[in-house]
Order: sequence, then C-alpha cells, then structure tokens
Amino acid sequence: MNIVMVNGQFVERNEAKVDIEDRGYQFGDGIYEVIRVYNGKMFAASEHLERLVECAGKIKLTLPFSNTDIQTMLQTLIEKNALTTGIVYLQSSRGVAVRNHAFPTTDTVASFIAYTKELPRPLHNITNGVKAALVEDERWLKCDIKSLNLLGNILAKQEAAELGCFEAILHRGETVTEGSSSNISIVKDGVVYTHQADKYILNGITRQQMLALCGVHSIAFEEKSFTVEELLNADEVFMTSTTAEVTPIIEIAGRKIGTGAPGSISIKLQQLLASEIARQCGRIYLEIDR
Ligand code: PMP
Repeated sequence: MNIVMVNGQFVERNEAKVDIEDRGYQFGDGIYEVIRVYNGKMFAASEHLERLVECAGKIKLTLPFSNTDIQTMLQTLIEKNALTTGIVYLQSSRGVAVRNHAFPTTDTVASFIAYTKELPRPLHNITNGVKAALVEDERWLKCDIKSLNLLGNILAKQEAAELGCFEAILHRGETVTEGSSSNISIVKDGVVYTHQADKYILNGITRQQMLALCGVHSIAFEEKSFTVEELLNADEVFMTSTTAEVTPIIEIAGRKIGTGAPGSISIKLQQLLASEIARQCGRIYLEIDR
C-alpha cells in the first residue's frame, strides 16, 4: 500500500495528480521539509514545521493548513503506510495558475503534498564515515530558505558523486558554508565550529539539535564560519542532516581528515543524538553498530 496526501486528501500514489501548471512543478516556487520517522513516530516534528512556516513567510506563501493539522495529517499518513523507520516528505507550492512569473491572484490556494518512504538509518556511514568533495558554492543568496529550487545543490552533489564522494562540501571562496544536503561542522582542539545561521546556509534542524546537545553536555562550540584550510586541517569533520544524523567525514578532496577515522567528539554526538531520538520516539538503536 502506498498512500500519499494531496491537498488534505489521502489517495493511492498512482491516483495522485499534480497539474502541469503547478508553480512547484514549473518554477520550483515552493518549500519543503523532510522529517525522520523512527518507530512510527516523527522526530523533531514541531521544529521542522516551525521552519516550514518561517520559510513560507520568507517567500510570502500562505500555507493551506495549520501546523497542528499538518502534524495530524502526517501522523495519519505514517500510520496508513505502516511506516516504522523512514521519512515523511512534504512540500507546499504557490498553487496552480496560468504560467506567469509574478504571484497569482490571492484566491489561488497553495498546493500541499506529502508522502512517506522507508529508509533505514545509514549505520554503515555513521560508523565508518564518508568521503566528501570540495565544490564552489554557486547557489543563490537565500540558502536559509528550504526552497524547492535545488539545482545548485543537485549539480554540486552530482559533481561529488562523479568523484566517488558521498557529499559535496560547499565553499564561497575561502569560506566553507555547508554541504549540498547537510550542514558541515569541524572539531579543532575540542571545540565544534559550524557556520553561523545566516543567508548562506540552511539552519538544519539536526544542526540545531546537535548544538543544543553540545550545550547541555558541556561540549564547547562556536557558530562561526571556517575556511577551507581550517576544514582540511581539522581534527574531525562531520555532516548533520535529518537522514544522515551525525555522519563523520574522513576524507575531503583526497586528503585524510585527522586520523582518517571517525573522531571521538563525532562519536559522542552520534550517541547523544541517538539518546535524544530515543527520548522522543521510543526505544531505538542507542548503540551505534561499531
Ligand atoms: N543544508 C542543506 C542544503 C540541506 O539540504 C539540508 C537537508 N535538507 C541540511 C542543511 C540539513 O538540514 P536538516 O538537519 O534540517 O535535515
């Protein structure tokens, strides 16, 4: 069974329809979220939905449902699909209207769709770490918006994939911003550094969770950008995202990071995040398979 949600209705995926003049389809004129599901429960759902509302505000989009209604619909969708471990994807576009760059009239209602997908935790990557490529950040200057327009991110990710890398670490000149689909942090002399939350990065929910855990567990951190050189000379580098959790990066552009194995602070943060997930979603993998 594959049930999806289209504008508040639950339908079989093969019966779902999107109009060819949906502005999400034609212009990428919309926003989205990806929420992790563990044990059939959403992790950090309110934080994701708050970011959705913030992003809607930034692009002047009126969401068709309240966050309470969205949360209920998403939970129903998870149950209808009997999802235990995976993600729920949701997106809202500025609706269906005759193609014209300027916004449609105010009576055009935003489209809203959601679906679920089974996705195991990437335990292999979490345990062993991944390789990353360095790619110039050539995206626009509103990277804080979780926009449907992902061409810049896609091109960077593809460049990395063609080099046999899992992630593209983006940099604007000397300054590292984030990953093509993750936030990047480094550890130097026991301090975690990650780019400040401004227009150059998406303020990842996992990034925020990770920083909050640093605060509670007395791990020193600074929200401060770092250079490519500092990245390459870091003791540890890791990426954070909803699907990747805390994934160590052990090699960048062919150069080993630190010892070339996941570092102790990265491992500590993986365990702290797993405990937080367990606290919210019930008993799960507290132990990383190491
Ligand atoms: N930056 C970018 C560009 C992303 O696409 C993502 C993941 N969607 C993130 C950061 C991480 O955000 P989150 O932790 O909310 O998944």
